[in-house]
Amino acid sequence: MIIVYIGLGSNLGGDFASPKQNIASAIEALGEIQSTQMISASSLYESKPVGPQDQGDYINAVVKLETDLDAIALLECLQAIENDHGRERKQHWGPRTLDLDILLFGDQIIDNERLTVPHAEIGNRPFVLVPLAEVEPDCVIPEKGLVADLISKLDQAGLKVMP
Ligand code: ATP
Ligand code: CA
Ligand code: CA
Repeated sequence: MIIVYIGLGSNLGGDFASPKQNIASAIEALGEIQSTQMISASSLYESKPVGPQDQGDYINAVVKLETDLDAIALLECLQAIENDHGRERKQHWGPRTLDLDILLFGDQIIDNERLTVPHAEIGNRPFVLVPLAEVEPDCVIPEKGLVADLISKLDQAGLKVMP
């Protein structure tokens, strides 16, 4: 069994849902992945977009899972859940109904054309680090250190926990 952290993001609803509903539904779907158990989920957070600014604010969360899958098999499950939630791949860092990123996969370091783990931008993103610290206060990122120390170096303005 390997402990895994997944980052979730959404800033588009789609036909039947709001970003918040997409995140809630995705958390449920993550708990149903084969050979995988949900351990815990963070609060929902609201954040300003990365990259193009002409798009709505994001809803973000992080979940902690335990899995017997390997990292590529898990990535494929995440992409299937993204597709089920109407994910379209157009503009880089453009608006999306659902984004699921593997933040950490145990203490593994992975770097190939399909996967970079720990996630390449993890150290720069308060909307990832703050919910990650909520589910794992003492979390250490391989080669980068304590999540709490990384957070203290970042501007958290624009990140709000949702009531
Ligand atoms: P960012 O990586 O900056 O958060 P993004 O999430 O918008 O950007 P996507 O378009 O969702 O990027 O994904 C592009 C590709 O990134 C995916 O097809 C996948 O193969 C690859 N990828 C590399 N590392 C990871 C990871 N840790 N988790 C999820 N996908 C990853
Ligand atoms: Ca992402
Ligand atoms: Ca992604």
